[in-house]
Amino acid sequence: MKKIVILGGGGFIGGHLAKRLKSEGNHIRICDIKKHEYFDHSEICDEFIIGDLTDPSVVRLVIEENVDEVYQLAADMGGALYIFTGEHDADVMHNSAMINLNVARECVLKKVKKVFYSSSACMYPEHNQLDPNNPNCQEDSAYPANPDSEYGWEKLFSERLYLAYNRNYNLNVRVARFHNIFGPQGTWTGGKEKSPAAMCRKVAEENENGQIEVWGDGKQTRSFLYIDECIEAVLRLMESDFLGPVNIGSEEMVSINELAQIAIDISQKNIKIRNLDGQEFFDKYGFKCPLGVKGRNSHNKLYNEKIGWMVSQPLKVGMEKTYTWISEQVQKKISEYSL
Ligand code: NAD
Repeated sequence: MKKIVILGGGGFIGGHLAKRLKSEGNHIRICDIKKHEYFDHSEICDEFIIGDLTDPSVVRLVIEENVDEVYQLAADMGGALYIFTGEHDADVMHNSAMINLNVARECVLKKVKKVFYSSSACMYPEHNQLDPNNPNCQEDSAYPANPDSEYGWEKLFSERLYLAYNRNYNLNVRVARFHNIFGPQGTWTGGKEKSPAAMCRKVAEENENGQIEVWGDGKQTRSFLYIDECIEAVLRLMESDFLGPVNIGSEEMVSINELAQIAIDISQKNIKIRNLDGQEFFDKYGFKCPLGVKGRNSHNKLYNEKIGWMVSQPLKVGMEKTYTWISEQVQKKISEYSL
């Protein structure tokens, strides 16, 4: 049994990771600024500490001596509406950098045996992701750096921070760059949700013969990795000797309209897609359409070489599970309103 601390365990990936590691018999302590919305705490951990990790005194309390592993997933983040409008840039950079500065130092002071840091594909340079059909997200394409968001710049800074602690203080780190992780028990409404959840929600809320709005021209591309495979990939990386940074994502690239169509097909509704872009978008919402880079896909050669394992689940399978869960949430909301 390992003593494990999961920072950001009140969130989507952290909650699933905690559940898996607890089910394997480990002692799990979570710290997050908020409770988990969808998991019962007894299901995912032994201790749940509500605390703000930007505060060094909280981090001192949460990370004790004799901890085997720390998983650092806490970040001030969200979907395109949160990250790409520019309105939250200062908070995103300050809060996440503060958390990482506190955590990396405390892990050295408390002699934590191994630390996982969750970086993001958002740190890759924009100039390599202009062609939607041919993005380059190979790990060694990171420099010269040019992320398209402050969120991406902070991730790049923090990867370097953990690797610097490794070189100077022997901190045993593993760094992964996640590419769009999705699945049930994640944010599905409110502006911080990612595109798979947004598509499932829009389709679940729409009438049989209705229409959903998809931001942009729908031709921008992404890949999406189902949560269970993400957790498996993280745990295998932790077991390996490879520090990273390494991509954790799917190589099944689809356009955003194709993603929307997958959700529509799963619902078996006769829904049309309406793309909203440019001036039309601005006139409706009062800000520029927040899209991010034109194309992005995971590149898994390095992970495969170093870890000897590949993710393989088709996107459709994960989307079916996610759609089922999100349509249940939509139904619950509807029945709450009609009470
Ligand atoms: P999430 O928002 O669901 O989880 C992050 C958690 O961090 C939240 O529960 C939040 O309350 C917590 N947190 C934020 N500020 C905090 C603070 N000051 N103190 C304590 N807790 C705080 O996001 P997620 O999707 O589970 O992502 C987990 C990690 O993976 C993040 O670092 C994110 O940047 C990274 N990542 C995720 C994706 C993805 O597709 N989900 C992609 C790339 C990278």
